Amino acid sequence: MKKPLTGAELNELVAGLNKLSRNLWWTWNQEAQDLFAHLSPRGWQNLFHNAVAVLREVSEYELRVHLQDNEFADRVRVVLKEFNDYLNEQNTWGRKHAPKLHKNPVAYFSAEFGLHESLPIAAGGLGILAGDHSKSASDLDLGFVGVGLFYREGYFQQAIDSNNWQTEYYNPVDPHNVPLEPVLDANGDRLICTVEIGMSDVDFQVWRVNVGRVPLYLLDTNLPENEQHFRDLTNRVYGGDSTTRIMQEILLGIGGVRLLRALGIAPSTFHMNEGHAAFLTLELMREKMAAGKTFAEAQKLITPDCIFTTHTPVEAGHDRFTPELMNYALQRYLANLNIPFKDILALGRVKPDDTHEPFCMTVLALKLCRAANAVSELHGQVSRHMWQSLYNVPEDKVPIGHITNGIHLLGWMKGSVRTFWRRKLTENGNGHSKYFHEKFAGDWSSAINHADFWEKMTDPTFVSDEELWALRYKLRRELIEFARRRLLLQNQRATPGDFIRFDHLLNPDALTIGFARRFATYKRAPLIFQQFDNIVKLVRDKQRPVQFVFAGKAHPRDDDGKRFIQQIIHLSKHSELAGHLIFIENYDIHVARQMVSGCDIWLNNPRRPLEASGTSGMKASCHGCMGFSIMDGWWREGYDGKNGFSIGPDSHPNNIEEQDRVDSANLYQTLTEQVVPLYFNRDVNGIPREWIKRMRHSMATLVSQFTTDRMVKEYANKYYATR
Ligand SMILES: *Cc1c(COP(=O)(O)O)cnc(C)c1O
Repeated sequence: MKKPLTGAELNELVAGLNKLSRNLWWTWNQEAQDLFAHLSPRGWQNLFHNAVAVLREVSEYELRVHLQDNEFADRVRVVLKEFNDYLNEQNTWGRKHAPKLHKNPVAYFSAEFGLHESLPIAAGGLGILAGDHSKSASDLDLGFVGVGLFYREGYFQQAIDSNNWQTEYYNPVDPHNVPLEPVLDANGDRLICTVEIGMSDVDFQVWRVNVGRVPLYLLDTNLPENEQHFRDLTNRVYGGDSTTRIMQEILLGIGGVRLLRALGIAPSTFHMNEGHAAFLTLELMREKMAAGKTFAEAQKLITPDCIFTTHTPVEAGHDRFTPELMNYALQRYLANLNIPFKDILALGRVKPDDTHEPFCMTVLALKLCRAANAVSELHGQVSRHMWQSLYNVPEDKVPIGHITNGIHLLGWMKGSVRTFWRRKLTENGNGHSKYFHEKFAGDWSSAINHADFWEKMTDPTFVSDEELWALRYKLRRELIEFARRRLLLQNQRATPGDFIRFDHLLNPDALTIGFARRFATYKRAPLIFQQFDNIVKLVRDKQRPVQFVFAGKAHPRDDDGKRFIQQIIHLSKHSELAGHLIFIENYDIHVARQMVSGCDIWLNNPRRPLEASGTSGMKASCHGCMGFSIMDGWWREGYDGKNGFSIGPDSHPNNIEEQDRVDSANLYQTLTEQVVPLYFNRDVNGIPREWIKRMRHSMATLVSQFTTDRMVKEYANKYYATR
């Protein structure tokens, strides 16, 4: 029998767990999550899987008693060792390939960061990408700091009213209850910085999120000394009107630079993730001018420090402000700059002297960066076309390149899948585990990120058809049980009879088609139901049943998007699709993870070429869920004819109505002629060999290619380390 832990040992483990809970590293480490889930299974489930909240819910006495359980204490020790090894590792990609960044890091500015469901400060794909970028910067050990805003009310929570209409509500986040730490100054007091907004000096405080090895700083104006409307400035993601918006962007760009200076951080590159942060260029110029440079000199001096990523292939999607609003919001700031206002406006205009042209944040960013990129190859073409007038060169010479987006693989992989692959990697008795053990020195999390691992997917001696099919069943079952639980919760007036009814929702044997994303209208959520009668036949087919799981939020002011939601929920309740089509409310990272893992096919039917990249389909691949997509964004680069399903050709009609008609016909045709027959073509044991073959090929060709590990290396090699 083991001796009980001493007080000192207990203190060390308790302190270790507290430190761990305030580092989002646990969001991509399954064993760490299991520790917190073990301490309070219900708290874990109901408090957004939030380690900090779980530790606050469990008393210190209870925690100490748990730690007297040797088995649990050993698990804690193993996780803490892995965590500390991660933080202290010196032999890293970043130290080898970008060592200078450790002295002068990359400062990555983004209006949203989607890191975890407990910190809802992202509205959609842009934020998720920023979160995944930060996690991979940590894994690679780049010198990197993130800068964003702390939205106390975050992005809205979605509820559906009795008219099937989306309504929004907000759950204020208590900063002490989520993985944040206050940023202090040298005296141990709250660090306070100031930025001029409108006619006022606005103070802000700062919260630090530890994302593995890298810090993310979130600016927060909710301080008693500020006027109420400035206290509320950082309440909501993209909340309010364009006045709120420009003021948030002044805080992010100008305030963000001031914060970095206050912390003594001297970035080598300022990376603007979308135009929202582009005011940072004004502050960098102001610094140069304060040191005696002219306006023209300052522009030349700061441009080499800045890079810009554009995400928006729609003209209307770029932030634009009227000259009046610019003048109002920047008056005090610009008064100190001593530059004619029209020279500032010119920086945000394609035609500098056109007094009718609004000020565009993207134009500002493009004019004052050393390099700019789009987020997929096709989006690069679209962006070069869109901004050609800014450069006066032929379209193919417009200096906007592309780096295709990716996802942070370990963060997105579902727990049961991580466990599955880990078992495959450590299983004795086949040569594969020996190979990986030697090549990756037992570090299975780097093995799983590596192309070598995913290439093994085509090898039945590494994983058999039967095992893969069993995994798919397990994941589909997990999704269905999740969906039944959520639908019961969604139905507030559920009666005991409903429990039984909801427990029969969805069919574990049916081909399950998933669609979840923001309900921006260009994504055309209801497109598939244009073939309503045909779809009814498909779901009613007893031999070859098909079913649909939908989720997504429409922007609070997007009534067209809300009508799409209404239409789909209506079909799910009152049409012949009832029971075969469900809508899961309140789409977030957690819902996304359940869906991309549990569905068999991931439907993506944007109006081409408006999906700059898209990332949710990438999250599906590692779970054996295959893409079923228009040839837009990343799918154009990923699809090779055999690793999923394409909807239509690599081109599109110009007329929108024509495009919708053609795409809906192609969608239905691919579904009935390729997807359904392949899925239900079974051998005597009920195994769809050809389907699984395609699944293997999809995993082998897509997973390691569309990660932020690959993407951040590209940013580092192309842009960050070249300074
Ligand atoms: C991945 C993700 C997105 C982006 O998905 P797209 O396919 O790019 O539209 C949006 N929201 C959430 C919660 C996500 O997880």
